[in-house]
Parts: sequence; C-alpha cells; structure tokens
Amino acid sequence: MRKTEVTHPYLEYYTLGARIMSIVEKIECSNCGAPLKFSPGELVATCRYCGFTQVIETGKAFEFEHSMILNEYDQVQVDDLVRNWMRGGFLKPGDLAKSSKIEEKNLTYLPFWVVSVTATSNYKGVFERLTPPVTKEGKIEKKYNWLVLARKATDFPTREYEVPLEGKVSYDFRKIEGFAKVLNSEVEKDEAIDIAKQQIENLHEFLAKQDVDKIIEMKTDLEIGDAVYLHTPVWFIVYEYKGKRYNLLLDGTSGTVIKGDIPSAKFGLI
Ligand SMILES: [Zn+2]
Repeated sequence: MRKTEVTHPYLEYYTLGARIMSIVEKIECSNCGAPLKFSPGELVATCRYCGFTQVIETGKAFEFEHSMILNEYDQVQVDDLVRNWMRGGFLKPGDLAKSSKIEEKNLTYLPFWVVSVTATSNYKGVFERLTPPVTKEGKIEKKYNWLVLARKATDFPTREYEVPLEGKVSYDFRKIEGFAKVLNSEVEKDEAIDIAKQQIENLHEFLAKQDVDKIIEMKTDLEIGDAVYLHTPVWFIVYEYKGKRYNLLLDGTSGTVIKGDIPSAKFGLI
C-alpha cells in the first residue's frame, strides 16, 4: 500500500479513499487557472491560490455561502495548550505533561455543512414505572444550527465539537496558514440536509424516551432554513508517552481539547 504522510488516525479516515485508489486527480481552477487537486469522492473543491470554491464535476462556482472560522493559535501556543490539558484533570498520570513528547501538530480546516433547523416533535407514550401505567403526551421544540461533517467514513466527534458560529466570516484563503491543510467536501448540500434531519429525529426520539418508557406515537416536523458551507480549524495532534502514541484533537478557535486519548493512570504505578 502507498505510504501517506498523514499518520493521525482521525485524519487517515479522511485520506483513506485517496490511499486505496492511489490517485489524486487534478483539474484547473476555473478562476485563476492554478492546478486544483482533489481526491476521488470529493465534490466541492477550494483553490488554495485564490480561494475560489467550485463544484468539481461542472467546474462552476459553488453557489452557496462559504464561510470559515479563524484559527487563533500558532504551533508554539498549541504546545502550551496541550501541556495545560495534560496537567489538568484527575484521570491523567501525574507526569503526563513532563514525560510526554508532542510528535505531530497538523492544522486542518474541516468542511462542514451547518443546517439551521426548527424541529417540533409531538409524542405520545406510556410511563410504565407507575401501576397502573399512564399514557402521557409531550412536545419537544428546538432550534438548531446542526453541524454535518462534509466527509464520509469518519470518526470525527462532531457532537462533542462546539463550533463558535458567531465567529464565522466569509471564506478567505489569505487567512489560511501556509502549513495548514484544507479538506474538500464529499457531501452535497441536499445530502447534508438529509443527514441533519435523520440525526435530529434520532435525538428527539432519545429525548422523548427520557420522558416516557415506551413511545406509542411520534411525529417530528422539521423546518429547514439555510445551509452554510463552513471550514473550521482543528489541530490534529499526536503525542508520545512511555513509548506509546496517543491522539488529541484541539479546537483552533477556542484552544480547548475536543477529544484526547489519555494513558491509563495505573500505568505509572506498575
Ligand atoms: Zn484559483
């Protein structure tokens, strides 16, 4: 198998398609003529030289709003953030910050669709914990800016990632660091909306089940507003501790750890 320069497991999911097929295809940017690289499965690509976003199949300009959220940290600051995270919390080995080595730090702009949805669910269910059981009705009404990752086959913990949407600005390629990677979209807008609908319905079913033991009837109405294409900065980090490698995802806007593997604290006691 072809070797890839990307070693972070969360990131490898993203490049898997390209790796298996061992091709990166190339077309010209319809705006500036620079080569526009893309991997099989990608549908929308952004030119790294002029920031133009186009639909790969047609070469035409992408017709939806394209936004981004800015990265606020450089590589040195990211080191500090990771060390601070290592020092905090009760579940970590006491020498984690001191004894570990940060081996990789890759800033990647991940593509998302942000779908605004007003969701109203009416349900009827049975509360079985009482004798005799009672029938109960309920309503869940919520507004969401629902985040759908525009990449397939991935483990990225979208639900644990709080994107500060108030900080979003129009996509500007000049604000992308030279060393950063920008991933293209593999998901079309309509598909993203379908995914959002399904996930919200699942969530509402879960919420209703907190209220009743058994659902008899449930209906969810979804009102779809805008869908915005958005790139957000995430640092993919690999650190080494006592000969083992661990992964960590850091939000480039807030500087907080989205998800981090923690070596077992018992390890140090043996
Ligand atoms: Zn271009």
